[in-house]
Amino acid sequence: MQAMELSAREILDHLVGFRSVSSDSNLDLIDWVEGYLASHGVKSQRVYNAEGTKAALFANVGPEVAGGVVLSGHSDVVPVDGQDWATDPFTVVEKDGRLYGRGTCDMKGFVALALAAVPLALKAGVKRPLQIAISYDEEVGCVGAPPMIAQMVKDLPKAAAVVVGEPSMMRLVNGHKGGAGYKVHVKGFEVHSSLLPYGVSAIMEAARLVGWINDQNTAIQARTPTAIAAMFYPPHTTVHCGKFAGGTAHNITAGDCHFVMEFRVVPDEDENEWADRFVAECKRVEGLMQAIQPNTRVTLDRFFDVPGLRPEEGGAADALVRRLTGDNAAEVVSYGTEAGQFQAEGYSCVVCGPGDIAQAHQPNEYLDVAQLESCWGFMQRLVQDLAD
Ligand SMILES: [Zn+2]
Repeated sequence: MQAMELSAREILDHLVGFRSVSSDSNLDLIDWVEGYLASHGVKSQRVYNAEGTKAALFANVGPEVAGGVVLSGHSDVVPVDGQDWATDPFTVVEKDGRLYGRGTCDMKGFVALALAAVPLALKAGVKRPLQIAISYDEEVGCVGAPPMIAQMVKDLPKAAAVVVGEPSMMRLVNGHKGGAGYKVHVKGFEVHSSLLPYGVSAIMEAARLVGWINDQNTAIQARTPTAIAAMFYPPHTTVHCGKFAGGTAHNITAGDCHFVMEFRVVPDEDENEWADRFVAECKRVEGLMQAIQPNTRVTLDRFFDVPGLRPEEGGAADALVRRLTGDNAAEVVSYGTEAGQFQAEGYSCVVCGPGDIAQAHQPNEYLDVAQLESCWGFMQRLVQDLAD
């Protein structure tokens, strides 16, 4: 097979051309990446979703030894529906030093650069491997990466560091909050409101749960932030209800109420512990409801779960990125990434990637050419580092 000699920019053209919106299959993109890697003699492994409609892909480039570096990105992008784009979102258009297109910034740009680094690593004869990890369904709650990471732990020599290339303007990000979210359905019991004590108003019971959310925030904000929490803005965990609907009329106890809630958790707290507390409160309220009417209930659907990224004291990934960027500062961010999921599996992990997060998910999303070039410099120094 003829090796596909492509620049990062040319690879980006290909990747953006695949309409890998999270709701759709990404298999055409994965086929292409697999073919590209194979043309360089690199074999890759897929990890499919349960339906077989999407796949993550990972590969080891160079010797099968421990101590390498993982470059990780997601293949999916957010939809363009309802957004006003000046150009075709699925074609990269270069204008005034910017590369416009869906995913150029978040985060096909980084994936393209990582793939362009593969032949570079092979030519340099790296002594420690470059590992490529491409997930799916990041944009719908980071649900595609965990099975991929679990398989990497089994099948690849353990890497010393992971760089998740979410847009950070190539600055080192070594911490982010974690999160968990629930869709809640409160099933009440309808009676005429004049008979209130014999019915169960789903809205009024759901309101108790929202009251619990408010109480948590009050208690959290009264505490002194820990050193890690103090790095964040705001410097504590937040609990939020973002959507609430139910009921039929002023004189009927509400039969149904639906609401959506989330935790954004500082990385020295466990999002699962917070989730457990909420589940326990839902159980308690459900008990009160069922004491009045047994066929009422509170149903929970946990729709996301992202562990936080804890800044690592003297971590390998941190040290690597400082060495390669020459940047001594580190930042924390408020958005969740797959970095926390790598860290939860025992990897040293940081976030560092081209582009500005403010561009993510926007119409006319772009990546500055200068950011692409800056990250290409990073890739070249990384390959040199792995070859030394
Ligand atoms: Zn992203």
